[in-house]
Amino acid sequence: MSLSDQQTSPWAPEGSWFIVAGGAGFLGSNFTRLLLEADRNVVCIDDVSTGRWENLAVLRERFGDRLVTIEHDVRQPVLDVVRDRLGSTHAAGVCNLASPASPPAYLARPIETLEVGSRGTQNLLDLALVHNARFLQASTSEIYGDPVVHPQPETYWGNVNPIGPRSVYDEAKRFGEALCCAYERSLGLDLRLVRIFNTYGPGMQADDGRVVTNFIHQALAGEPLTIYGDGDQTRSFCYVDDLVCGFWSLLQSNHHGPVNIGNPVEFTMMELASLVLELTGSTSAINFHELPEDDPKQRQPDITLATQVLGWEPTVALRTGLQHTIDWFSRAATDLR
Ligand code: NAD
Ligand code: UDP
Repeated sequence: MSLSDQQTSPWAPEGSWFIVAGGAGFLGSNFTRLLLEADRNVVCIDDVSTGRWENLAVLRERFGDRLVTIEHDVRQPVLDVVRDRLGSTHAAGVCNLASPASPPAYLARPIETLEVGSRGTQNLLDLALVHNARFLQASTSEIYGDPVVHPQPETYWGNVNPIGPRSVYDEAKRFGEALCCAYERSLGLDLRLVRIFNTYGPGMQADDGRVVTNFIHQALAGEPLTIYGDGDQTRSFCYVDDLVCGFWSLLQSNHHGPVNIGNPVEFTMMELASLVLELTGSTSAINFHELPEDDPKQRQPDITLATQVLGWEPTVALRTGLQHTIDWFSRAATDLR
């Protein structure tokens, strides 16, 4: 489905406002670009704890006052700060992408991660109710934990260690889903719930510590690639343009339950390392390091539901998306020199 096919939706017509919490982050800035290019207006709320306002600099130049930015921690109430900037204008959609997202980021902020997933989500839900807005909750494949069902359909309840180090993220996201569903059941929230699988592409934070960023940086710098464990664990990597089109399709659909959005083609970390070496032309060595605790052994989305109810499926193969990402990181490195 092309973006232009979807722009005729009676919900949130051109000129509508969207609030994107976490808008200065990787996915938030890419989704903000999609919304602005689709002639919607955006308020980004972000405390820039892991994101950067520079991610929105080009959009600010292109779209002027159709993009409003608010530096604010969503763990604090948001109603007044939004009213100060939007006045009586109602937002058609509130999108909750605010959370530390990479393992190093959430392991460094364990309490904050639990708070943003709970209190932060509730503040944004209350904002959505006041605006009578549709609410997009960015959940995650991590709610499946270290899955024993493979690939993972939305009906799978997961296998999460509730007291391990990763639980601060996994359980925050599981609580976030529960809270959203309670608001839907009890208060009539207009909910859209997306479970995002590993996503990569331009706009990733260079120091996020995720595998794609690490491998690209290491390969470009001629440093050894760091594989955790034996490299047999798998992930399924989705290119960011595909992912944000999935957000838009879901927002415009009538489907309320959780939907997996991800690319179902599964790779081992060894395969990923080989591909990065090939595409960068790097001669970097591969070094093996200890596998982090509770690191999921396999992950692959079952996207049957997304295909059926949204008509969505990914279009960018890993080889193509990685080449775009490598080119983007190379340009960013040149600009910094
Ligand atoms: P990111 O770190 O680039 O973006 C998250 C943004 O949220 C950052 O700009 C950060 O500053 C902001 N933020 C964090 N805490 C905040 C707070 N208390 N108040 C206001 N802003 C706050 O990460 P991302 O990859 O863009 O992830 C976006 C969302 O998607 C997250 O909710 C994440 O859990 C989810 N997700 C991402 C992936 C992925 O592969 N990228 C996978 C699954 C789920
Ligand atoms: N990983 C790796 N080397 C790195 C960073 C990560 O081998 O430099 C592994 C990590 O142990 C995990 C996989 O790559 O098995 C994906 O890690 P990432 O942090 O990108 O995402 P997540 O674990 O949240 O899926």
